[in-house]
Amino acid sequence: MTVFDRLGVRTIINAKGPATRLSGGIMRPEVAAAMVEASRACVDIAELQAAASRRIAGATGAEAGYVASGASACLLLAAAACATGLDPGRMARLPDTGGMKNEAVMVRSQRNFYDHAIRAAGLKIVEVGLPDRYAGAGVRDAEAWEIADAITERTAAVFYVADAQSRPSLPDVVAVAHRHGVPVIVDAAAQLPPQSNLRRFIEEGADLVAISGGKALGGPQASGMLAGKRDLVMAAALQHLDLDVFWDMWEPPAGLIDKARLKGAPQHGIGRSCKAGKEEIVGLLTALELFITEGDAARHARWLGDCEEIARALPAATITGRDDTSRVPVVEIALGPKGIGATELCLALERGTPSIAVDPFLREKNIVLVNPMCLKPGEAAIAGKTIARLLA
Ligand SMILES: *Cc1c(COP(=O)(O)O)cnc(C)c1O
Repeated sequence: MTVFDRLGVRTIINAKGPATRLSGGIMRPEVAAAMVEASRACVDIAELQAAASRRIAGATGAEAGYVASGASACLLLAAAACATGLDPGRMARLPDTGGMKNEAVMVRSQRNFYDHAIRAAGLKIVEVGLPDRYAGAGVRDAEAWEIADAITERTAAVFYVADAQSRPSLPDVVAVAHRHGVPVIVDAAAQLPPQSNLRRFIEEGADLVAISGGKALGGPQASGMLAGKRDLVMAAALQHLDLDVFWDMWEPPAGLIDKARLKGAPQHGIGRSCKAGKEEIVGLLTALELFITEGDAARHARWLGDCEEIARALPAATITGRDDTSRVPVVEIALGPKGIGATELCLALERGTPSIAVDPFLREKNIVLVNPMCLKPGEAAIAGKTIARLLA
């Protein structure tokens, strides 16, 4: 009997990818084992975060790094850090940003549900650009000068969502932001693979980058990492760590927090709600190391093997991203005008036993997607056969 049997909760075959509503992905045994090991001893959590900072810096090329309970949590910490700097009074006042720089400039077309994290820290989003899809003159988007135009003395940060379709380019955004002395926060939660994206946004000049631990990295579902400038990571750490200590007895790790530069510390900052335990921190670092060791080519081959297993049962299916190791290969099942439709197929799979979650993203085109990222050995074959049976 598994823990889920005891709770009366069905397990599902996740052929959709690492979605939070499907409880994320499957951790490698090495990651789970590291988390169990971490659970068996107590450590100074700031010292552990300082070690995480060194590892994340090594993996990303950033000056420093930090671990919180998800990429979203890291974005909240990033926004808080940009608003307060190293001022403990400001840290204690958040999310009240009165008297602080409290605006985040953001390209309107990049607005998304996750930008709650920026607003939760007390920042107001100032949108720029008009992604015009209706005038018939081609899709326009924001230009770098529009970002510059929106920057004032109240601007705490420019917030940028990294994606293949993001406009303007990050280097162009960084250039205008830095010309005005404003840091750039990048949401790169789901930008892996390719592995080069661990370093890319830092290389392109981002001041803080948030990456999910529970997506392609294969770390704990409730983990994420922040990589960036030393002072900003220090400001994030100060608003996340439990600093309920006597000031004169407090000896934080110098690599993460330079106590000499502080006039005090907030006991619990706004990031307290973004807590990551030692198990998540160790799990994320273990997953990061495994992710780098495996490399894009081997990872792609592993995923492609599962896609091929599924496609074998489905003669009409195609595999996208087959020859591109920088992408996740995905099985595309285009459904004909007759027979079961995409929505029906997704629902029938979800309602079946075992329940199989696939991706309905292209259902308007009557296409069902099958993503191999969260499949366990043997599950690809079951998914392929089950879909073939429903199509017959
Ligand atoms: C998944 C995602 C997030 C949130 O990441 P978590 O690690 O689940 O907190 C934020 N932004 C984007 C673009 C995402 O895809």
